[in-house]
Amino acid sequence: QRDGSVWTRIWVVAESTIDRRPPVSGATRLAAVIGDPVRHSLSPTLLGAAFAETGLDWTYVALEVADGSVRGALDGMRAFGISGLSVTMPHKAAVAALVDRCVDDAAALGAVNCVVVEEGQLVGYNTDGGGFLDGLAHDSGMDVTGRRVVVLGAGGAARAVVQALAGAGASEVVVANRTLERAEEAAAMAGSVGRAVELSLGHSDGRLEGALVDALGGAELVVNATSVGMGGVSEMSTIHQPVDPALIGVGSVVVDLIYYPAETALMAAMRVRGVETYGGLSMLVCQAARAFTLWTGVEAPVVAMRAAAQDVLASR
Ligand code: NAP
Repeated sequence: QRDGSVWTRIWVVAESTIDRRPPVSGATRLAAVIGDPVRHSLSPTLLGAAFAETGLDWTYVALEVADGSVRGALDGMRAFGISGLSVTMPHKAAVAALVDRCVDDAAALGAVNCVVVEEGQLVGYNTDGGGFLDGLAHDSGMDVTGRRVVVLGAGGAARAVVQALAGAGASEVVVANRTLERAEEAAAMAGSVGRAVELSLGHSDGRLEGALVDALGGAELVVNATSVGMGGVSEMSTIHQPVDPALIGVGSVVVDLIYYPAETALMAAMRVRGVETYGGLSMLVCQAARAFTLWTGVEAPVVAMRAAAQDVLASR
């Protein structure tokens, strides 16, 4: 009886932990994540839950691959017949350069987070941007078409989000970054709707760029893609906010790509002001869900994947 009661929720959680896979056998297919470090990656949790929930005869492991050993890892993928590969830091750019080909988005980003075997070829994809849009749709129901957006940060995550936003029809994508040159490179991912401004942390010194103030004041969506705010729950002061929250309009939606802690200092400040705000868990789940579907052709069990990730994060 799915009535939202405590017992129903316990039943749903218990059900989601059942492993529906057949026992590992000679026919079991293998997928993996490569990174360095990779020990704390949530990918084995997310994809492991997806295979367990769907009952597909796949297993998923984390493989630590040292910087500089990516060519060998991809050769190993071919030799072992590994059926799917997730790629995390610091290998996304190296994999993009070494796979047989990249799909358009990944080629433009120069970064691959998912390798798919297609007719014997290793094909590089990047599911981060699509995962962000899926997560946003799940959390807020927002369609970004025609929206004015500010993205704080210009690293790998920001670039993928900027590209996805422009591709989905955002009318303006302002990239604000501490290093202006990187903001310009990331804004270029959005073509004619992209614009770069400097991100000055003007909490107290009053040296705020007018362009940043104007962009934040008019934004319908603000995305924090800087790493400011990552870390422990005790870090709730303004120095753990990428920008002064007072500059963000109360009518906007704020997404912080950080998923640990579940509520960052920026999110807490926005919540106090009554602003709709979300963390990065949905993007994390949805980019993994896209990888799962690319490998298997099966719809991803996102509810089970999210529950598994929340369980692990809650115990950190
Ligand atoms: P990255 O490539 O290292 O980029 C880091 C960004 O943060 C850069 O724009 C950097 O600015 C900025 N930054 C760092 N310290 C700063 C400071 N003190 N003040 C102002 N700006 C600062 O990292 P990334 O891979 O893009 O990841 C960025 C964040 O997104 C991380 O928190 C990561 O956990 C999160 N993320 C989430 C997901 C998800 O699925 N939810 C996926 C990927 C990443 P400069 O260019 O000036 O150095």
